Amino acid sequence: MSLAHACRIVLLGPPGAGKGTQAQKLARRLGIPHISTGAILRAEAARGTDLGRRAAALMERGELVPDDVVLEIVQARLEQDDCRRGFILDGFPRSLAQAEALERECGVASAGLRVLSLDVPSEELVKRMVLRGRKDDREDVIRARLEVYRQQTEPLIAFYRERGALVPIDGIGSTEEVFERLMVQLGSCDGRAS
Ligand code: ADP
Repeated sequence: MSLAHACRIVLLGPPGAGKGTQAQKLARRLGIPHISTGAILRAEAARGTDLGRRAAALMERGELVPDDVVLEIVQARLEQDDCRRGFILDGFPRSLAQAEALERECGVASAGLRVLSLDVPSEELVKRMVLRGRKDDREDVIRARLEVYRQQTEPLIAFYRERGALVPIDGIGSTEEVFERLMVQLGSCDGRAS
């Protein structure tokens, strides 16, 4: 198995689980890019592009942006050179349709991924998000996002488990503690090695 293969990481977990924070730390440690669809969409919205404006309306309601939009973003990003040694996907895939598109349209085999799923109970999630205070972190929007997560994203846990790619991680504890748990599972993965 090639090294690049070993560094294809997906961070899965409910909103507020700490995916963004951990993905950033992992990217720095492993020397591979962090690809956050949420961050890319927020950047588009801040720039006021057409796509950004349409996405912002949905994000502010806690709804998902259409699959074809995020897929195009991810596809273009994965084609860039810095993804050859691996990548960390954060916030994508978010539905079975997106996971299948990642396989078919981006040519990324599910069985070759390491899908790290961060487990955090819902009471803790709401607490963390209210503290974070992003534009879509109002309590009604948080509830909507948790519901979308349960319906659309949670089925991915079984999907990746069946493909032997799932690595469950306890997401309770300090940022450092959770990071160490993730690193234990990614021991052989180093995007800087050739
Ligand atoms: P969180 O996971 O903490 O809710 P994200 O930054 O991942 O935050 O996502 C914020 C919002 O961006 C989502 O609620 C959704 O509207 C949109 N979004 C991000 N990624 C996707 C995706 N893969 N598919 C559809 N919508 C997405």
